[in-house]
Amino acid sequence: MSPRKISVLGSTGSIGVSTLDVVRSHSDRFQIVAMSGGSNLSLLEEQVRLFRPDRVAVISEELARELSQRIGRDLDVTILHGVEGMIACATHPDVETVVSAIVGAAGLVPTMAAIEAGKSIALANKETLVVAGSLVMEAARRNDVSIYPVDSEHSAIEQSLCGHRKNDIRRLLLTASGGPFRTFDADRLKRVTPEQALAHPNWEMGAKITIDSATMMNKGLEVIEARWLFDLPQDQIEVVIHPESIVHSMVEYVDGSIIAQMGVPDMRTPIAYALSSPERLSLDLPPLDLCQLGKLTFEAPDPERFPCLGLAYRALQLGGTAPAVLNAANEIAVASFLEGGIPFVGIPQLVRAVLERHQVGRLEHVDDALKADLWARSAAREMLNDFCFEESQ
Ligand code: NAD
Ligand code: MG
Repeated sequence: MSPRKISVLGSTGSIGVSTLDVVRSHSDRFQIVAMSGGSNLSLLEEQVRLFRPDRVAVISEELARELSQRIGRDLDVTILHGVEGMIACATHPDVETVVSAIVGAAGLVPTMAAIEAGKSIALANKETLVVAGSLVMEAARRNDVSIYPVDSEHSAIEQSLCGHRKNDIRRLLLTASGGPFRTFDADRLKRVTPEQALAHPNWEMGAKITIDSATMMNKGLEVIEARWLFDLPQDQIEVVIHPESIVHSMVEYVDGSIIAQMGVPDMRTPIAYALSSPERLSLDLPPLDLCQLGKLTFEAPDPERFPCLGLAYRALQLGGTAPAVLNAANEIAVASFLEGGIPFVGIPQLVRAVLERHQVGRLEHVDDALKADLWARSAAREMLNDFCFEESQ
């Protein structure tokens, strides 16, 4: 069997690095044909030398020149840049599967290009489905493309759905760790720093998703992702806090049975499953020792202290361009929090304010989503200047 040809968008990120790790440990099964990174050139150069892709893309022309100089004549690789470069990596004629692991709404256009080119998608970039879920799923249907979830919760749900009928589903139960501030009261939440927020208890991830986990916006984005991936209404998608991150998510059926998928928290498991399902690849991970673990705990999310989850449900209910606006406002709010511009509790406040100001439009083309995204970014930046984040939550 010839190796499956893969393109990794966002190869230098947390998911990108884990994907390449899976590929390297199964090099007879996979071959990297294209990859794209952002601005971490030393890591990207190392990856290019190791995996020898045919194409590689970086964000800017300047970075492409620098990468060319670093690689020199050592390798036969085409170095591209910008959105066009990302699209060229996503649509390389030899590629069979695209791992979509860019962070944020920037992942949408290359992922859509991959779908239109008929590539299978291993989807980590949940923002693609948040921003334009209906259009993405419609494009996948039209092009007969399968979307395999990389997000651990959605991978767990996919595995728990195997062999069951959709009509028999009562609810999807997405688990959430609750993040580092699960036990903080409202007063303590006002004073948390970016350093504290970046220290996730169970998962090592990129900065943006780590902050999203701390605010629980990540779970909100995942509810929207689940709505589109599994084509179920939002009232059949619920969130339960599970601090140990061992049960990755569950499906409840009409007879009361709940099927869950468990494992140690390591993204290589859902990545490998997205690349090879229904076959399972052996991975060098420590076994899950349930006896040592002793117990697993669950609790309800608190909408007062973590309003982002409710905001995501609200955006989903509003429909159309609202989720794209939620996502873009959140990207601006998270970046500002990381730069010390707004407090942690300012993130949901800014997102809510932008969502309230938005006149929801229809989502008929990707351009509608991109326009809403741009509008929300500029509205959020404007509000950052004169928004009072002090006491009220
Ligand atoms: P990360 O920040 O570690 O990596 C992001 C990658 O995207 C990097 O390669 C970066 O160079 C590239 N990138 C950033 N901005 C870009 C732009 N404008 N254009 C092109 N490339 C750009 O992020 P991550 O944690 O790997 O997350 C990637 C995606 O996967 C996110 O959508 C996240 O929500 C999702 N995800 C991550 C995890 C995890 O464990 N890290 C789990 C589930 C889902
Ligand atoms: Mg997840």
